[in-house]
Amino acid sequence: MNSNDVTTKTDLLSLTPCELEAFIVSLGEPKYRAKQLFAPMHSGVSPMDINNIGKALKAKLEQNAVYFLPKIRRKLVSALDGTVKYLFELSDGNAVESVVMKYKHGNTICISSQVGCRMGCAFCASTIGGKVRDLLPSEMLGQIIVAANDTGERISNVVMMGIGEPLDNYNNVIKFLKLVNCEEGLCIGYRHISLSTCGLVDKIDTLARENFPITLSISLHASDNATRSSIMPVNKKWSIEQLLASCKNYYSATGRRISFEYTLIAGKNDSRENASALADLLNSHLRSGRGGMPIHVNLIPVNPVSETGFSSSDKKAVEEFAKVLEGKGIRATVRRRLGADINASCGQLRREDAQSD
Ligand code: SAH
Repeated sequence: MNSNDVTTKTDLLSLTPCELEAFIVSLGEPKYRAKQLFAPMHSGVSPMDINNIGKALKAKLEQNAVYFLPKIRRKLVSALDGTVKYLFELSDGNAVESVVMKYKHGNTICISSQVGCRMGCAFCASTIGGKVRDLLPSEMLGQIIVAANDTGERISNVVMMGIGEPLDNYNNVIKFLKLVNCEEGLCIGYRHISLSTCGLVDKIDTLARENFPITLSISLHASDNATRSSIMPVNKKWSIEQLLASCKNYYSATGRRISFEYTLIAGKNDSRENASALADLLNSHLRSGRGGMPIHVNLIPVNPVSETGFSSSDKKAVEEFAKVLEGKGIRATVRRRLGADINASCGQLRREDAQSD
């Protein structure tokens, strides 16, 4: 099927079961055909390769619809822990990254939500060339389908922590969440999905009203506005106080705990004083009053990106930081670095590839 025509033709993999049914009926076909298409398409089979749907429908689909899965342009497998990193090529030649990590509790995929990013975080490789475009729901789903087929293993958890800011592509991400959860499709439970955001407060508030029981991760990275604004431009629009108020609201609306990401950058935000200020900040904003929310901080030693000039805190500083947090009642874990030998942190493979063109 012609895959380059997503603008004029219907993107089959972005349709919910109801929408697919309506589309099939609009082509003059019986609606049960939608069921014959949905499950195979969501396991990676092109409609042209489905046997029982008839030649007439295939011809109509060829005319009016597209079905596209990302192609594997590069694949790196970690010799250390089996982490697999993909550089996927989309139908228009753009590329995004996904990483499959193997944990005891199942396989987790980290997917991208945009080609590039416009949030401008100073330490991040994905934002260096700005945002090229949003991903379609089908393109987010496609990363999971292709990775599952390629590894031959079920993927049971999804983290939206790859290239892009998911809440800056809000409608497509919401559609993707509904699709990935579909029983007839990948059937991944909302509780097994995490969405990471740099803090688009208006969108966090809207998401709270949708009431999906997904886990929200907030990229905090600093405990005062001056430091946060110097590394994350989004903080100039929404301050830390506004962000935490929105987190509190999200928790009361959904009952889902929120985790905070804190990237440790040597000399910037990694002192004991920074740790103490972080604990005070979270305790005072999120735990005041009755029924304070459970708080978890993920500490991530920054991955050096050559263009950013930031370097990673040493092991001792990271441990000290965690200890100070724990001492003030905040649970903290130091993120284990999977796929260290394949540069598995997102954004870097896409840049490397673009530079070698
Ligand atoms: N835009 C979203 C999701 C993508 S980034 C967000 O900001 O949360 C996923 C996580 O990786 C974020 O916490 C981000 O701040 C972090 N990150 C980006 N570049 C990094 C780097 N060089 N080292 C460590 N963490 C990084």
